[in-house]
Amino acid sequence: MANKLMLLIFVVGFALCVESKYMVYNTGAKIVPDKLNVHLVPHSHDDVGWLKTVDQYYVGSNNSIQGACVQNVLDSLIPALLADENRKFIYVEQAFFQRWWRDQSPATQKIVRQLVDAGQLEFINGGWCMHDEAATHYIDMIDQTTLGHRYIKEQFNVTPRIGWQIDPFGHSAVQAYLLGAELGFDSFFFGRIDYQDRAKRKAEKALEVVWQGSKSLGSSAQIFAGAFPENYEPPSGFYFEVNDDSDIVQDDMNLFDYNVQDRVNDFVAAAFSQANITRTNHVMWTMGTDFKYQYARTWFRNMDKLIHYVNEDGRVNALYSTPSIYTEAKYASKESWPLKTDDYFPYADRINAYWTGYFTSRPAIKHYVRILSGYYLAARQLEFFKGRNEAGPSTDSLGDALGIAQHHDAVTGTEQQHVANDYAKRLSIGYNEAEDVISTSLAYIAQSSSESGLKLQQCPLLNISYCPPSEVNLSPGKKLVVMIYNSLGWKRSEIVKIPVVSANVIVQDSTGKEIESQILPVVDAAMALREFYATANVGKSPVGGPLYWLAFKAEVPPLGFSTYTVSSGKRAATTSVREKFYRSDGNQNDAIEVGPGNLKLVYSGSDGKLTGYINGKNMVKSSLEQSYSYYVGDDGTKDVAPVVAQASGAYVFRPNSTFPIQSQEKIPITVLRGPLFDEVHQNVNSWIYQITRVYKEKQHAEVEFIVGPIPINDGLGKEVVTQLTTTIKNNKTFYTDSNGRDFLERIRDYRSDWNLQVNQPVAGNYYPINLGIYMKDKDTEFSILVDRSVGGSSIFDGQLELMLHRRLLVDDSRGVAEALNETVCIPSACKGLTVQGKFYFRIDPLGEGAKWRRSFGQEIYSPLLLAFSEQDGDEMTNFKVPTFTGIDPSYSLPDNVALITLQELANGEVLIRLAHLYEVGEDKDLSVPARVELKKLFPNKQIIQNTETSLSANQKREDMEKKRLVWSAEGSNHKSQRVSRGGPVDPIKLVVELAPMEIRTFLINFSKKLSTL
Ligand SMILES: [Zn+2]
Repeated sequence: MANKLMLLIFVVGFALCVESKYMVYNTGAKIVPDKLNVHLVPHSHDDVGWLKTVDQYYVGSNNSIQGACVQNVLDSLIPALLADENRKFIYVEQAFFQRWWRDQSPATQKIVRQLVDAGQLEFINGGWCMHDEAATHYIDMIDQTTLGHRYIKEQFNVTPRIGWQIDPFGHSAVQAYLLGAELGFDSFFFGRIDYQDRAKRKAEKALEVVWQGSKSLGSSAQIFAGAFPENYEPPSGFYFEVNDDSDIVQDDMNLFDYNVQDRVNDFVAAAFSQANITRTNHVMWTMGTDFKYQYARTWFRNMDKLIHYVNEDGRVNALYSTPSIYTEAKYASKESWPLKTDDYFPYADRINAYWTGYFTSRPAIKHYVRILSGYYLAARQLEFFKGRNEAGPSTDSLGDALGIAQHHDAVTGTEQQHVANDYAKRLSIGYNEAEDVISTSLAYIAQSSSESGLKLQQCPLLNISYCPPSEVNLSPGKKLVVMIYNSLGWKRSEIVKIPVVSANVIVQDSTGKEIESQILPVVDAAMALREFYATANVGKSPVGGPLYWLAFKAEVPPLGFSTYTVSSGKRAATTSVREKFYRSDGNQNDAIEVGPGNLKLVYSGSDGKLTGYINGKNMVKSSLEQSYSYYVGDDGTKDVAPVVAQASGAYVFRPNSTFPIQSQEKIPITVLRGPLFDEVHQNVNSWIYQITRVYKEKQHAEVEFIVGPIPINDGLGKEVVTQLTTTIKNNKTFYTDSNGRDFLERIRDYRSDWNLQVNQPVAGNYYPINLGIYMKDKDTEFSILVDRSVGGSSIFDGQLELMLHRRLLVDDSRGVAEALNETVCIPSACKGLTVQGKFYFRIDPLGEGAKWRRSFGQEIYSPLLLAFSEQDGDEMTNFKVPTFTGIDPSYSLPDNVALITLQELANGEVLIRLAHLYEVGEDKDLSVPARVELKKLFPNKQIIQNTETSLSANQKREDMEKKRLVWSAEGSNHKSQRVSRGGPVDPIKLVVELAPMEIRTFLINFSKKLSTL
């Protein structure tokens, strides 16, 4: 009996062993036309910094914060892909990929190239990072994408086809048409749109659309765009990281918990559920999420089994896919898609949760990124003029740091504090190297030689009145030389201000002619800022200090410089400062007019408040008031279920009340008058100081604000705004830019795509601003331009509002797990962050504001660049070339065109981009086609080849156009739309035509490597 039992056990055991032989899964499924096709898209979302720094994420350190290691992802991926030729993976962030790639052996690199060639590994999106779409400037978006795309092209000779912006917090029009269609992308996918919009789109099967982001370029720059049904993760229950809690597919009958049929049923149910909200018989599953595939085998093992058993089951067809394959399937269906225009801002993920706080979060980092963006543009020009030095300093590390800083948890301000510090450190290192490039190039050009006798210094902390090179004692015989570089393609005339230690100085131009200048005191508020922030930034307390600002008018040629000298001397009577000090005593009722030119601002004599705006030149007269107030950030504690608690934080803006900021006494104002400009100083309260400048020769006012530290001793987080109020009847309508480019119409409490349920009347009407905001009525338009990305709105008719600074005490529970409470420390103290910045405003007759917004907007983006040198004696021996222009001296770019890139690449080719600055119909004179003569841009060089490329310069434009998919949008008739574009460039004449809003990119080869000089 016992033996028989033993035998029986043996036989049964043997039989089971025989059954459990090596299993081959059939993973080779392709699209099946008459079935529902489930495209499994394996991916990992790797943030280029967030809770950890980019390097910590890459190497996998600091895992107590987050167990994430991108090196593991890429290391484990390669054997997993090699194990089955049907498996596929997409990779996105090149800042990570290049870190990994340079560490790989030639043998591994060869294998990876084969995987790319075979389509198993596909690069999509392909920029250095997955950039944000609200707080980014379009030039930065282009630059960081170009960096990644050219890297992929060089290493793999491929061009990414798909946009993959799955995590950014709302989506911009510029992303769709410029960083989508103009890159040659066939489609563009994303995860975050407003929850109300998403619900409606699901009901109408309208998550996937044809998006025309540009009014000017219309269908010629449209793209197929798909919002995911929920987020960028797999359907619930299909997470297969090694420690995920989804049920794995257990198909071994020898073991307990065999579950194949259950898992197949789950799969089919999830597929049909998604099919119910999707057009065509193709759905995409995003198989992965943040930092997944660190152990890629678990994902692929389970997907292998699902594909095998689901297809055996036969109700749906599952396949390994990529967004490219999915896009081709959608295209082949010949379906018509809903037409989408404008953008997907603002984003709310549930009631009371508008992600509009990050438009302003970390305003100092935002400014640092913007300033360095303009600096990078100028530095590449000067690098080109001297000739790129492969051995020496270059602009590359600044390009890398700026690329990383565009990430959707970098410039957004939604990273942890230590990560924000890391971004700033990278930018600072990049700046230092680029500063070297600029100084060396300017010295080289000024001397007409490579002699390095001339040492030039720059002042990155000029905004806090800190500039050691200009704060020098100018004894007789000594001169301070100021070189002023203009990176714009047209001549500029602008007031330059530098700190000096003596009022007895004169300014001469390079011919020796004394020019008009103005001396102003450095006020106490600025000195306090200088003392604390110079110590915090430089590591030591500044010695002495400037007593004055010296201002003078500089005239600078296009892409060139002028040189001015400052020396001690008796100031001529006409240039002396006429200072008038005014303090309201409460009894004076006369209006105070400020401004030495056509533009006058009017202040009340009784309370010192701004009351009016008058411009005698264009006959504009308007009432105008300005105020400051703050919102108290909600801490979410009063929310009652089922409403989810929501605090105001790094991402989300959720005010619970608003308070006007008024000093207890009447606001004392001080007016400083001078020949070049007047200043109005206002101590708004103990932590807000404001200087308003009205220039003699400018038709706009400039407001410099110093806000902070925002007090929190009452236990309340605060979000500080300023409002400018006019009598303009804008009827709820205002306009904000998309990434500094197209202006989009915004209507308060309204969305064109759905019937908005308003639950946050302030936060839900906030929009990102990178260039400006304006409103208009039948007579007038009122515009404000900004110096960095901020949030803003028109909450009341006649009023525009900007959020300048925010300091909050509670995390808003979107993952960053820190309150947005920025502090700055010196050895003896830590204080809440103070922010210094500027905005500019102007009122125009209706239809005349665009010229200022566009041309002055370029000047804000590209401020004049100053370099200093001390000089002994009268002769300017070190400056053989005191003025310079890099283009033909008789030429300048048309008023409606900017040169947004001029860069010598490592291979010696020169990359240029020309951008038309106006939309169709925006300005009666300048919304017209423009022409640029390339020969005059490069007067001393011979162009032997000029190739027009895609926006990211990774393929010929004509090749890109040939491949372009033509999508069909519901209700749009392609034949009736005439879109204007510049024609081909004649290789002999070399004249580039640009239609409104067009950007054209070229790679140029010159006859031989020559200096431009
Ligand atoms: Zn992310």
